[in-house]
Amino acid sequence: MTTELDFLDLDRLLSEEERLIRDTTRGFVTDKVLPEVAGWFERGEFPRELAKELGGLGLLGMHLHGYGCAGTNAVSYGLAALELEAGDSGLRSFASVQGSLAMFPIWRYGSEEQKQRWLPRMAAGEVIGCFGLTEPDFGSNPAGMRTSARRDGGDWLLNGTKMWITNGGIADVAVVWARADEGVLGFLVPTDTPGFATRDIDRKLSLRASVTSELILDDCRLPGDAVLPEVHGMRGPLSCLNEARYGIIWGAMGAARACFASALAYATTRVQFDRPIGGFQLTQQKLADMLVELSKGTLLALHLGRMKDDGRLTPEQVSLGKLNNVREALQIARAARTILGANGVTLEYPVIRHANNLESVLTYEGTSEIHSLILGQALTGLDAFQ
Ligand SMILES: Cc1cc2nc3c(=O)[nH]c(=O)nc-3n(C[C@H](O)[C@H](O)[C@H](O)COP(=O)(O)OP(=O)(O)OC[C@H]3O[C@@H](n4cnc5c(N)ncnc54)[C@H](O)[C@@H]3O)c2cc1C
Repeated sequence: MTTELDFLDLDRLLSEEERLIRDTTRGFVTDKVLPEVAGWFERGEFPRELAKELGGLGLLGMHLHGYGCAGTNAVSYGLAALELEAGDSGLRSFASVQGSLAMFPIWRYGSEEQKQRWLPRMAAGEVIGCFGLTEPDFGSNPAGMRTSARRDGGDWLLNGTKMWITNGGIADVAVVWARADEGVLGFLVPTDTPGFATRDIDRKLSLRASVTSELILDDCRLPGDAVLPEVHGMRGPLSCLNEARYGIIWGAMGAARACFASALAYATTRVQFDRPIGGFQLTQQKLADMLVELSKGTLLALHLGRMKDDGRLTPEQVSLGKLNNVREALQIARAARTILGANGVTLEYPVIRHANNLESVLTYEGTSEIHSLILGQALTGLDAFQ
């Protein structure tokens, strides 16, 4: 059955299990997140107990198999990301970082002992992870990283600073990428290790219901087996980003859907010049454009999800999805903001919160410019990065 929020009846393209996961996540967001999220955003906090609730629902590392993970398909993971981000991009960011940036590298590149030690508790939300790649001087170009790892007897010594790290200040374990003689390596750093410290980044006006921190490694001594043994080089962190970017393709459409729903409801009830503002052609044009992009973006996410489940999805296709869906979600949020007039700038409605959040989503996991360059290189064979 088509509705204004599922105009193309995409629901029919989902399996019973996929619908169940979507509906369970949507119910959680409706009951536990929406009544509180404006306050979290205003106060700049992410309630830590949400981690266990998400874990209890099987939403952390849900697309991974074994070690207490739910083992769903990629489409189910995407649908959950969409519903979480319809609540708030900060909530989806938490789940993306935990599942795709912290658990995925352990699951994919870790030793059996590392997997047993960390993954079950991370899937349950008892242990929180973060992913340290970006540095103060190396964002879009992480390959230039200065954080170093050098051997000291049987141990490793890590030195450097990571910047803009989601979950950093609340993490129990940090996946830190550092340069060693053999190339870039990934390390599992328990956050109570001497020489490891965090400093939260305050005063941000986007993703406020998410903790973002600086990680400081000052002669941080780790045992020899703290390194992820199965990967070296930038392939490691980039493969993790590819997983997380896939979730963003879906998630952005959740934020967009929430903005569209808010604007549509407002347009039919707000009266100016003796009629609902939804009766004006200019408002209808905005709503129609929003519906078109929301429908196309969600269909694109589903198509890319089916390709991922077939093992055919390439990083360039993920770039196309991230570039389009975040860009369009931001346009939808901004158009929705105008429909709400002055109410659109308050936290009484979700729109300005989503619009501000999407500014971060546009920037992290590869800026829109970087994804354009990835597509440009795929098309022309020419590297325009430097
Ligand atoms: C809220 C938030 C959470 C984050 N969470 C994490 C996390 O958990 N872990 C992590 O490692 N990082 C995280 N990041 C960091 C994020 O990935 C970086 O901010 C992003 O990669 C961009 O880097 P930068 O901010 O240094 O910008 P820069 O790289 O300095 O870019 C600035 C501008 O220049 C443009 N630019 C750069 N190079 C080129 C080029 N070759 N051609 C054209 N334009 C170019 C960019 O597109 C951008 O518009 C987070 C960021 C935010 C805002």
